Amino acid sequence: MLSKNGIYAWLLAAELQAIKCRALIREQCKETDHQLTGHTDRLLEANMQAVVFLISAVLAAVISSSAGYQFGPLCCSNPTNAIRGSDIFGEGRFGASRGSRKHGGVDIKCEDGSKVYAPLDMTITRQSIPYRYGTKTAINNGIAFTAEGMRFKLWYIRPTKFSGTVRKGDLIGTMLSMQSVYSGITSHVHLEKDPKTDPMHVINTQDTAANRAFCSSRD
Ligand code: ZN
Repeated sequence: MLSKNGIYAWLLAAELQAIKCRALIREQCKETDHQLTGHTDRLLEANMQAVVFLISAVLAAVISSSAGYQFGPLCCSNPTNAIRGSDIFGEGRFGASRGSRKHGGVDIKCEDGSKVYAPLDMTITRQSIPYRYGTKTAINNGIAFTAEGMRFKLWYIRPTKFSGTVRKGDLIGTMLSMQSVYSGITSHVHLEKDPKTDPMHVINTQDTAANRAFCSSRD
């Protein structure tokens, strides 16, 4: 038989044990809650990373296709439209020194006598010549054209025509005899945007593999 005091003592002990248990459970709950919060944070972080990745991918796709065109090869002796480097007459890049003035376009390498193709769908608007006073007649020829909402000049070619629309890849002329005028130069066509700004952003839309494929069956 338990005495009255004994029963009180037992109830007290039981109550103390219960308090301890509840405290323990609360601690465990907190721990679980903390873990859950940690998981949730990591989950949110992962979701954010996924969203950022998705936005970047979409933007990259939009930017890469924003030009809506790909610059083709002008001259199949140079399918990837490589720019004339430095030679005894100067450099081919936009803004290169030409004595007191600056180069207003880019020089795209092309061997004398090569066929020259339309790098874009274009409208040829008129003849355009580099030299005003009848000098250097062997290379003093070219065209002005519009393409993709921009105006251009293309020099040192004997054009097939001076007006009308042509499609990308159509023959538009023949590279003139630049070596007969500037012996030792890296022969090239001169492509210029009108007004004069660097046309490299247009050339850089090119798909080099597609250009090589186009040139594989042409000279
Ligand atoms: Zn030039």
